[in-house]
Amino acid sequence: MTLNVHPGLPEFEYIRPENLDEASQFLASHVGESRPLLGGTDIFVRMRDGIWQDKYLVDVKSLPGMNEISFDPSAGLSIGAAVNMNRVAAFPAVKEKYAVLAEAAASCASYQLRTRATVVGNICNASPAGDTIGACLLLDGILNIHGVDGFRQEPLAFFFLGPGRTRLKAGDIVTSIHFPLPPHGMVGHYLKLGRNRLSDLSIVGVTVVGFPDKSLPSGIRIRLALASVAPVPLVVESVEKILSERTITEETIAEAALAAMSACNPIDDVRGSARYRRQMVKNLSVRALAEVWKKLR
Ligand SMILES: Cc1cc2nc3c(=O)[nH]c(=O)nc-3n(C[C@H](O)[C@H](O)[C@H](O)COP(=O)(O)OP(=O)(O)OC[C@H]3O[C@@H](n4cnc5c(N)ncnc54)[C@H](O)[C@@H]3O)c2cc1C
Repeated sequence: MTLNVHPGLPEFEYIRPENLDEASQFLASHVGESRPLLGGTDIFVRMRDGIWQDKYLVDVKSLPGMNEISFDPSAGLSIGAAVNMNRVAAFPAVKEKYAVLAEAAASCASYQLRTRATVVGNICNASPAGDTIGACLLLDGILNIHGVDGFRQEPLAFFFLGPGRTRLKAGDIVTSIHFPLPPHGMVGHYLKLGRNRLSDLSIVGVTVVGFPDKSLPSGIRIRLALASVAPVPLVVESVEKILSERTITEETIAEAALAAMSACNPIDDVRGSARYRRQMVKNLSVRALAEVWKKLR
């Protein structure tokens, strides 16, 4: 018997609403058979493979503000939902002030794919493996969302509920993500372990940011997030605690990496076993933490 693993793209209706109200109303009245469309790099693969069978794809790319990216020195960075990853990675203020996001965006798939894929799509897809999510979490991202009752904001920190599951409700459309000004002197690093350098999700992803903080015994605040090793993208609070309370040395970094390993809860899948992932969390955390510490010194 031949197994057809790629049944092909099914027929669907392409909807292009005039405004956000129309888009939210349409999505809310077609629950379970419609979804917002940005770059489509997750959607079309899932539909081709028969995993998603939506009748309607609601293209939200051209709605007001969706294509804007801007930096305000007193308010921070705003990235419209439809801004693709190459634009994010190349935007001067992202490179200068939110460099870890540029690094994470540039690690996704290939250049070609990144001309379609968006950071907001990466977030809304809610894969624990999403490469840009760790940076967005550590940079304290806040989502602007339009729903049937109008606009609201949601901090990214509480957004993820499980693989593919978020706090989005019927009719909700993320219009942009906002990042406050980063703390003075902030540096970061993203380390991704994949099966190849192009076009694959991570086996393990480690994002680290750090900045001087005189109120702490160590004088430095360091935060770490993990991808692909838990049901949701994970910020490991114990790492921050260890590296805040004591002088940072190779030993405290090793201890923090062990804490990261203990916090994760990976599964076995085609990309790697849970055991391998745990070991790689430890190894990559040591490397990413040491790199950030070096930059701060
Ligand atoms: C070959 C290939 C390689 C890949 N490699 C990587 C990789 O290395 N790293 C990685 O992280 N990902 C990778 N991906 C996955 C994918 O490219 C990313 O998750 C991408 O960021 C999704 O963005 P998009 O704009 O294409 O989203 P879409 O596919 O348009 O949407 C994704 C999901 O978000 C929902 N959604 C979209 N827009 C909104 C909105 N405004 N409001 C609410 N919900 C919305 C959609 O309905 C859908 O459920 C890869 C995909 C492919 C096909």
